[in-house]
Amino acid sequence: MELKIFNEEHEIYRRTVRQFMEKEVKPHVDEWREKELLPREIWRKMGEQGFLGAYFPEEFGGFSADFLTDVVFLEELARSQSTGLIGDVMVSNDVVAPYILEFAPEELKREYLPRLARGECIASVGITEPGTGSDVAAIRTTAEKRGNEYVINGQKTFVTGGFYADVVVLAVKTNPEAKPAHSGISLILVPKGVPGFSVGRKLKKMGAHDSATAELFFEDCRVPAGNLLGTEGGGFVLIMQKFQRERLVTVATVLPACEMILEQTINYCKERHVFGKPVASFQVNKHKLVEMATELELARTFCYQLYQEFNNGNQGLVKEISMAKYWVSELANRMAYQCVQLFGGYGYMDEYPISRAYTDLRAFPIVAGTTEIMKEIIAKTMGL
Ligand SMILES: Cc1cc2nc3c(=O)[nH]c(=O)nc-3n(C[C@H](O)[C@H](O)[C@H](O)COP(=O)(O)OP(=O)(O)OC[C@H]3O[C@@H](n4cnc5c(N)ncnc54)[C@H](O)[C@@H]3O)c2cc1C
Repeated sequence: MELKIFNEEHEIYRRTVRQFMEKEVKPHVDEWREKELLPREIWRKMGEQGFLGAYFPEEFGGFSADFLTDVVFLEELARSQSTGLIGDVMVSNDVVAPYILEFAPEELKREYLPRLARGECIASVGITEPGTGSDVAAIRTTAEKRGNEYVINGQKTFVTGGFYADVVVLAVKTNPEAKPAHSGISLILVPKGVPGFSVGRKLKKMGAHDSATAELFFEDCRVPAGNLLGTEGGGFVLIMQKFQRERLVTVATVLPACEMILEQTINYCKERHVFGKPVASFQVNKHKLVEMATELELARTFCYQLYQEFNNGNQGLVKEISMAKYWVSELANRMAYQCVQLFGGYGYMDEYPISRAYTDLRAFPIVAGTTEIMKEIIAKTMGL
């Protein structure tokens, strides 16, 4: 069933992005993965093509593209199979830039948005700390206002793109004594290079090796008070609000990954012969493939409807977005397990994309709010 949410312009854009990914990304995926780092050059190339900040107004380097244009970009980016690039670009372009676009003072918008759009600046978000992740209100990094500066002390971890980010949207406690605790949280823009801000280890991960995940440290780090995003004490609400877009764009990269592993597995099962017959000819395997295709098609129908609603400005989608994030992330992992199984020993070999997908996809029920947290949110909307 064809889901017609994209218009002709979206499809033309898709062809342009796909050609770019074929030429500029796919041939380098193995090399970047080996080096465990992405070259800055690829960011600039995407900037030149107008893929970054497409949704920014023209004055900030974009073309006021709608949300569906971004979905098209993310779907094609996901098909490039460079998990690092997908994660780092998604976070910088679709998670952090919206904070700056919507909540930064005009001066900071002018400073950062055009550079983000040109691929000259990479942005990260630091919420998680060694002591807390899901419970955002329990963060301990503080920012004390002294004169016209904030003095920041604390530590962040698991920061996507943090190893080479030029600017970080940082969640801090401006009032550690506030009750309820979340009302003491604020967001501050911290540029690389300010005194007291240092980047720690580039963290070794199970997968997505080319994603520059890092620890960040702040020791009497001073930033101008004007780097506050939104209002003091209003950070938690902004984070919860922006989580909706973050979760939806996460889904927009996971769905194509599911489609790809299914395609690869179907092709393999048709070609690979066991006991004189294709793997796909055994009923048990056919059924596995059918089950995956069915679950995926149902998920896609729901998510595409959601993209369209979000694109139309529907803000009341917390339950549905949480459901999509939970369901698609878990589906991807169920599928990755079955696909590896159908590939047999080859599925366990690193040189096979299916093996990489297995470890890369494992992050999704954890990032941007775990499956358990999604279920907690859904439960609340059900009055439970
Ligand atoms: C690859 C990767 C990239 C990331 N990128 C970023 C980033 O760019 N910026 C950033 O700030 N963070 C980032 N994170 C951190 C991520 O958001 C957190 O790991 C996640 O929110 C979970 O927090 P935690 O790891 O502290 O786990 P915890 O919160 O300690 O949770 C541990 C377990 O307890 C469960 N749990 C927690 N609360 C409940 C509850 N109420 N009911 C039932 N179970 C519960 C969780 O679901 C989980 O299974 C990243 C993580 C990874 C793996």
